[in-house]
Parts: sequence; structure tokens; C-alpha cells
Amino acid sequence: HPAFDVHAVRRDFPILQERINGKQLVWLDNAATTHKPRQVIERIAYFYEHENSNIHRAAHELAARATDAYEHAREVARRFINAPDVHEIIFVRGTTEAINLIAKAWGGQHVQEGDEIIVSNLEHHANIVPWQQLAQAKGAKLRVIPVDDQGQVLLDEYRKLINDRTKVVSVAHVSNVLGTVVPVKEIVDIAKCHGITTVIDGAQSIAHTPVDVQDIGADFFVFSGHKIFGPTGIGVLWGKRDVLENMPPWQGGGNMIADVTFEKTVFQPLPNTFEAGTGNIADAVGLGAALEYVERLGIHNISHYEHALVDYGMAQLAAIAGVRLIGTVPGKASVLSFVLDGYSTDEVGQILNAEGIAVRTGHHCAQPILRRFGVETAVRPSLAFYNTFDEIDQLVQIIQRLAGQRRH
Ligand code: PMP
Repeated sequence: HPAFDVHAVRRDFPILQERINGKQLVWLDNAATTHKPRQVIERIAYFYEHENSNIHRAAHELAARATDAYEHAREVARRFINAPDVHEIIFVRGTTEAINLIAKAWGGQHVQEGDEIIVSNLEHHANIVPWQQLAQAKGAKLRVIPVDDQGQVLLDEYRKLINDRTKVVSVAHVSNVLGTVVPVKEIVDIAKCHGITTVIDGAQSIAHTPVDVQDIGADFFVFSGHKIFGPTGIGVLWGKRDVLENMPPWQGGGNMIADVTFEKTVFQPLPNTFEAGTGNIADAVGLGAALEYVERLGIHNISHYEHALVDYGMAQLAAIAGVRLIGTVPGKASVLSFVLDGYSTDEVGQILNAEGIAVRTGHHCAQPILRRFGVETAVRPSLAFYNTFDEIDQLVQIIQRLAGQRRH
């Protein structure tokens, strides 16, 4: 039994009342993006109606309001991930931009020819391609931690990959394809023993499991606002203060400078060093409202409820002949990927859409891990706290029916 009333919570999300092909929407595509509660939608509208201004550099009242709203959101983000210092919270466009920033700014400075970068087999392309680009530019090498048949990273294999050329380890906290909760704390501890810098991609963990960056102990933790009931186009890069302070700026321009002459620029201190130009002010404020919304529900309550939903869904799907689940690590979070014998994943997606059920089909921007399991695409229902057991039943009934009519 959830500590919150799922039917009451659903009323906060106007889009969940939407009808699709005559049926009430069943949104099972939360790993791609989540819906926004009224509290977020109204907060953004309030910003544009009462606070809209550029920030930090005007004497007038609206600049003060906009700055206060933006900096309040930064403080909420700090609290949400238990970062020690609000100056360590950098607003970026999302997870992708955050990892690119780290690879370019930190990697550009620290990774040299012959050095090694470790990622895992289950990474999203956003945590592969920027490192691959860095490795190519520098003549460095990308090493990959393998996963077992359930979809967990192999820590012993990880230990074997580490050597004195290893500079950085960058791994997902939760896999967007398998739902695996990766033992990031252990991975970070092992890296730290060797003086290796660590990056955690929190895109899929932030809305589903408690996150405490001091407990994890990594140098960087990044996430996207839109995966946690906030707007698109805004996300957070958290880094340890000393790491960020020793990192060169990524982009140059307004807001990030203290003094400019044609000879030399003096940069602003954190966080402005990494926030060149006019940022996504309104959506940062919206993200703050989303994080406060989740705080009120309680991430532990959410996690508890979702685990019950995932376990229920996994058991139901596993019982259907012809369904192969992809990613079966116990305690997995929020994702139920599968393939169904006799049907392409596109066909399954279209049949579900006809019934108002939204799932993602395709390669989910993580081709290497699907190929590890011998498939190119999968059907991926993915959950949030506003999903119900009844919605899982609706999904399962259709898959059962398709399996029963299976062509060979
Ligand atoms: N990493 C993971 C694990 C993800 O699931 C995603 C989004 N699917 C990303 C990175 C990229 O996030 P964004 O597109 O918001 O930058």
C-alpha cells in the first residue's frame, strides 16, 4: 500500500485525463519523459506573468524576482540531491549537455594520449558518444565494463579494467533499458582507491530512487529535469567544488565573466563560470517546483510503490509464453523491457497505441546493451508513481492476447 494516494496524485497531472483513440491515456513511457503536474505548469506560468526578466544584472524589481526564483530553484536542487554547497549546482540543458560539458572541459584538461576512460555496457548513448569523441581527439582508449545475463555490471571485470592509465569512470545509476540499479557507490569507492575521477549519469535514477551525492561520493552527478516531472531543456550538473574550480569554463560569454578586456577575461566564480549566456530561467524555476513536488510525496514512498508495480508487472509478463524479458536484476527500477515472439517491437507499440497505451519501442538510445542481449529493439513500458496496477493489467491483457494469436 502506497504512503500516498495514487488516485489523488493522478489528479495533479492534467494530461493523464487525455483520451487517445477513444481510450484514456495510459502513459508507460516515463523513461523517455515524464508528465508535469499542475504545480509545475502553474509555476512556469506564474514566472512569465509576474517575474519574467533576465537575471543577475539589473537594478529593477523584476530582475530581483527572477533572480530570487532562479536561485531558489538552485537551492532546491542542492537539497534534493544532498549536495553540500549550492555553488556546486550548475544548470544545464540536460544530462546530455552535462556529460558533454564534463567530457570537454574536464576531459579536455585531464585526458591525454594513451589514457583510458571506463564506461559500462549498459550506458545510454549520451554516456558513450561524448567519451568516444574525447578518446578520438586525444588518442585515449574507451574501456567497457561487461554485464551479466540478468543485466548487472560485473564488478570483478571492472576491477580488472583499471590500470594506471585510467583517468575517469562514467556510469549510469539506473539503466534506461534494463532498469538495473547499478552499484555506483562500490564503483566509485574502487575508483577512488586509484585516484580516478567518477561521473554518475542520474537521468533514470533521479525520479525513482533516493539520491545522496555525498553518500555516493562521485565527483560528478548529472540529471535531466524532464525525467523528474519538470520541463524539457533544463537539467543539473553537480560537481565537487574543488573539481569544478579547477576545471576550465566550457562556453564563454555573458554571465560567466567578472571582467573582460581584449587581452584577458576574468571569470565569475561558481556556478556562473559554467552558465554562459542567458539560461533557461523559467524552466529552472519549473524544475525547482517539480523537485519540491517530489519532496512532498517523498522519494522513499515513490520508490517503494514503484518497486511493487515493477515486481507485479515483471511477474505478469514473465508468465506469458513468448515474452522474453530483457533485464531481470532483482530490485530493478521502473523499466519493463521485453520482446514478443512473432511480432516486431513496432507492431506491439502500434497495437498498444490503438488501445491508448504509450510505450517506447526501438533501440532506446542504448544500442550496445540491446545487442548484448541479442536484439536490436525492444518494447519498453516504463513507470512513474502515477501509474497503477490496473494500468499494468491493461498492458498485460493485450500482450497475453497477442501471444495467444501468435504467428510462427
Ligand atoms: N542517460 C540516460 C540513462 C537516459 O535515460 C537519458 C534519456 N533517455 C539520457 C542519458 C539523456 O538525457 P537527455 O536526453 O535528457 O539529455
